[in-house]
Amino acid sequence: MKDLLPAGVKLQGEGGIAFVIAGPSGAGKSSVISALLSRDQRLRFSVSATTRPPRPTEVHGRDYYFVSEEEFDRLIAQGALLEWTVYQGHRYGTPRAEVVERLKSGLDVVLKVEVNGARAIRQANLGFPVVLIFLVPPSWEELAKRVRGRGTETAEAVAERLHIAREELKCIPEFDYLVVNDQLERAVARVEAIIQAERMRIVRCG
Ligand code: 5GP
Repeated sequence: MKDLLPAGVKLQGEGGIAFVIAGPSGAGKSSVISALLSRDQRLRFSVSATTRPPRPTEVHGRDYYFVSEEEFDRLIAQGALLEWTVYQGHRYGTPRAEVVERLKSGLDVVLKVEVNGARAIRQANLGFPVVLIFLVPPSWEELAKRVRGRGTETAEAVAERLHIAREELKCIPEFDYLVVNDQLERAVARVEAIIQAERMRIVRCG
């Protein structure tokens, strides 16, 4: 196909693309992302570092790097984090080297962050395209149900997640795409459509 293109033009998918998936608690980011990763060999998940303790099903190195406060301080001091934030009293950050190396090798990276992280990744001037996708449940009622249904948190933590969710929804205008997760399969297909379209985007270079 490349021999068909005129000079000074390429497809965005020839290099790595960062797909940032944000959205309120209960949107289903983790489920959507694991389905995407199982189907698309070019996608890699950016495993974040966090000081939050692991939930029962979470695995160190797969879901997060679970680190101590001291270790997180070290990561910040070393400049090892592309961005970091505090969420419900715990720190979360994106390891820079993993993301950049994968993008450089032509792989696409999926990042699961909250809205401040999404903003910071766009502003970080990675030298690679950054696509911001906001995932939402079909309604506020459904969002609240999903947050309560997780069952791993205290009533205060649930109330705080709902408050944060309200604030996060206000950031939708900063995003490129809005995907409704009414049903997992459909939501995954919508995000896949975005990924395919972004790879086919024509880029004028030079
Ligand atoms: P949870 O504790 O539910 O796994 O994550 C809480 C929030 O932190 C979610 O919105 C999640 O997307 C976000 N998050 C996870 N990792 C990172 C990160 O590296 N950076 C930022 N900014 N947010 C993150």
